[in-house]
Amino acid sequence: MRAPLLTLAGVVIIAIIILVINHNDKKKHSTVSFENESSHMVVIEELDRTKLYNQWFTAAKDIAQKTKDPEAIEICEFIEKSVLLAEPHPNGGRFLQGAREDQKHYFGLVMMCKGDQDAGFDWRRDYYSVAGSGARFMPDGPMMIIKSHIPTSTLKQGLILLHEGRHARQFLTQRYNWTDAKKFCEEERDTHNFQNRITSALLGESYTKLVIDISHEYEKALADGGFKPGEALAHRSREFTEFDSIFPAISKFEQDFRDTSIWIHANFIMLERAFGAEAENHKAIFLFQLYKESGIVPNS
Ligand SMILES: [Zn+2]
Repeated sequence: MRAPLLTLAGVVIIAIIILVINHNDKKKHSTVSFENESSHMVVIEELDRTKLYNQWFTAAKDIAQKTKDPEAIEICEFIEKSVLLAEPHPNGGRFLQGAREDQKHYFGLVMMCKGDQDAGFDWRRDYYSVAGSGARFMPDGPMMIIKSHIPTSTLKQGLILLHEGRHARQFLTQRYNWTDAKKFCEEERDTHNFQNRITSALLGESYTKLVIDISHEYEKALADGGFKPGEALAHRSREFTEFDSIFPAISKFEQDFRDTSIWIHANFIMLERAFGAEAENHKAIFLFQLYKESGIVPNS
């Protein structure tokens, strides 16, 4: 489906179009001390959003080329064809680029910059703060927002853009009901399966071996509590510093992304070991529990 506004504008500049963000599902995060965190944040000086996007896209492409993963390659192509840079606006996001005639799909991409906290309370709370995830794709924009103002390694940049890029490709090519909690969790599961696969391919056996070790650690923690895999949520209980040499984190913000990714991967491995072919459903349920706790499952 092509958005009527886009058809109307054609190739003419559509800088004034406002994408309205649905903030309904974000109110639950309002207890974080983001004002405090923001004032102590290290923020990069780069203000050119095109430059930032090029950096992140190069990082994603680099992963696709190194792993030769066909889906990663396809997602890079999709992003390149569909992206329209945008900037924060008090009412949503404002396009900085006009649509091109050859664009079959499009989404707005806001690369966050120093100073974007002034775009409004929601921008400051949800996207300028270090709290919460490093990026998000919102189907109702459609818009992707990346916390590119916080310094991160190119490895993280590439993985995040590929993760969110997969969400964008899935939604824009299929137009599924993203407010359906089950579908939402299945999409997250498939996207984490993808992210786990490319991380393993990129970082090799030493990474995979360590994640398997952690999967056993969780299985034991569950057993100690009287549970089998799939019966309870194995919470993230420690920092995974043993990954520092192969999956380095240059900040607490990045370490949180890395450790969350490893935690999810380890749980997926544990569920695959326990359920074999039936594991996919258990993985989606695991994510449902996890996202429900963080308040990001739609309509739940
Ligand atoms: Zn995701």
